[in-house]
Amino acid sequence: MQGLMQEWPLVCHKIIDYAAAIHGARPVVSRSVEGPIRTTTYADIARRARQVAKRLERDGIRLGDRVATLAWNTERHLEVWYGLLGLGAIYHTVNPRLFREQIAWLINDAEDQIVFVDLTFVPILEAIAGELSTVERVVVLTDAAHMPETALPNAVAYEDWIAEVDADFRWADFDEGTAAGLCYTSGTTGHPKGVLYSHRSNMLHAMTVSGVDMMNIGCQDMVMPVVPMFHANGWGLPFAAPLNGSALVMPGPKMDGASIYEMLTRYGVTVTAAVPTVWLMLLAHLDEHGGALPDLRRVVIGGSACPRAITEAFQERYGVHVCHAWGMTEMSPLGTVCTVRPELGHLSEEETLRLQEKQGYPALTVEMKVTDDEGRDLPWDGTTFGRLKVRGPAVAREYYKGAGGEILDADGFFDTGDVATIDPYGYMEITDRSKDVIKSGGEWISSIELENVAVGHPDVAEAAVIGVGHPTWGERPLLIVVAKHGHAPDKAEIIDYMRDKVAKFWLPDDVVLVEEIPHTATGKIKKTALREQFGDYELPAEAARPVTL
Ligand code: AMP
Repeated sequence: MQGLMQEWPLVCHKIIDYAAAIHGARPVVSRSVEGPIRTTTYADIARRARQVAKRLERDGIRLGDRVATLAWNTERHLEVWYGLLGLGAIYHTVNPRLFREQIAWLINDAEDQIVFVDLTFVPILEAIAGELSTVERVVVLTDAAHMPETALPNAVAYEDWIAEVDADFRWADFDEGTAAGLCYTSGTTGHPKGVLYSHRSNMLHAMTVSGVDMMNIGCQDMVMPVVPMFHANGWGLPFAAPLNGSALVMPGPKMDGASIYEMLTRYGVTVTAAVPTVWLMLLAHLDEHGGALPDLRRVVIGGSACPRAITEAFQERYGVHVCHAWGMTEMSPLGTVCTVRPELGHLSEEETLRLQEKQGYPALTVEMKVTDDEGRDLPWDGTTFGRLKVRGPAVAREYYKGAGGEILDADGFFDTGDVATIDPYGYMEITDRSKDVIKSGGEWISSIELENVAVGHPDVAEAAVIGVGHPTWGERPLLIVVAKHGHAPDKAEIIDYMRDKVAKFWLPDDVVLVEEIPHTATGKIKKTALREQFGDYELPAEAARPVTL
């Protein structure tokens, strides 16, 4: 027997309609690419999204068509998103930090028909325009006064383009399984693969991540997604904020410490989210110039492991609660959030900080397991590590156009490529990417854990660890370090500092000081580049080595 409740498809444009109807006056503040800070509201965004949809339809865009955005987090980007969603077209957020050839490849693979581009990225598009086989029009996200001279196909200024129609547009009808958005994985090996979100998966993900024990946002909040919309759906915040009536602060093109601090304090941001690199920049700015974060109550940190030093600085110096989170493009993206549960309320401050190094536990919609290489389940004991696999309604079941073939195991679980432990409470901790873990004498060494410990040293700004070949042990860890501005760390002293914090055989065999550590387009340490650079590194001879195994 079926239930007798109404059919109400979980389609994403309902979110902006709801925000306009119930929280219509709530502000959306954006640092514009042109410079000034603009303030608009959910009611304005919903109205202009309908204009976008109506104007897109006039340009021939229909249900299922792909449209690219190369854009920062601004209100215009949001309008375009929701306009596309209400038309049943698919937003394809392209990461502008990728190499130009990759951007061209992505746009061709997606078969995008229109590209919405911020002024910043017009030169990128101009450089690859000749290679784009499906793009018929480029809409530059600006007004006539700022529109550059360009030979891009059918180029038009967004404000002119949108002004040609009114907002009298009825959203298209389609079911909730319809594709909504396309985002490619970073593709460190081979071509990136497309993850095709549905309206239903985005909606369920947005409802889940809003929860009190997840992002914890409501209508009292001023939410600033520093994480870009082109990075895995902006962690769901462009959906979750309007869904909860939270006001939004969009940082636009400026993500340096001073600019982020300005937005946080000037607009009373209460919840924000970004990768650790952004927070290192903010904390460095605060160290140098002083300052306080009186309104900020929660900072969500993920994308790579959040070092304990960041958690301590936010919590102890600024009274801001850190919420460590883990996820991936294939998961919409949030998988786990580290919230302290009542059964762990007795932990000391020190033990709580240790707990917060874990990536946390999942919500209802993410099922997890760890297995060995043969697919056998491993115990949830907090120490046995294995392949982390996930299943749920906002997890990919296959890649766009079938790239990569079958990606689920017999039980429908997706292998995340991460190596992790799960403790008896269900808290997961990432040990490493499976390809980054250092295999030494039959044991595994976590590069992430070594990096986290190393950045706790007062002279170290950033640290990366890779495995380099060793005749006896197979691989040994090499620590690569960027010094804090004006500091000159001593290699042996760094190792000494780490000595009582990790197992003895984990201690790096050597330390290299570099000016800069390379990052991927999503702000993660680019281990492939480091392995290329230091793959043949000669570790010091046994006697000279700082560690004796
Ligand atoms: P992406 O799809 O670009 O978001 O990358 C996803 C990958 O980033 C995950 O599979 C992890 O390897 C890594 N990652 C994300 N969040 C964390 C975290 N909190 N700690 C450690 N690694 C993380």
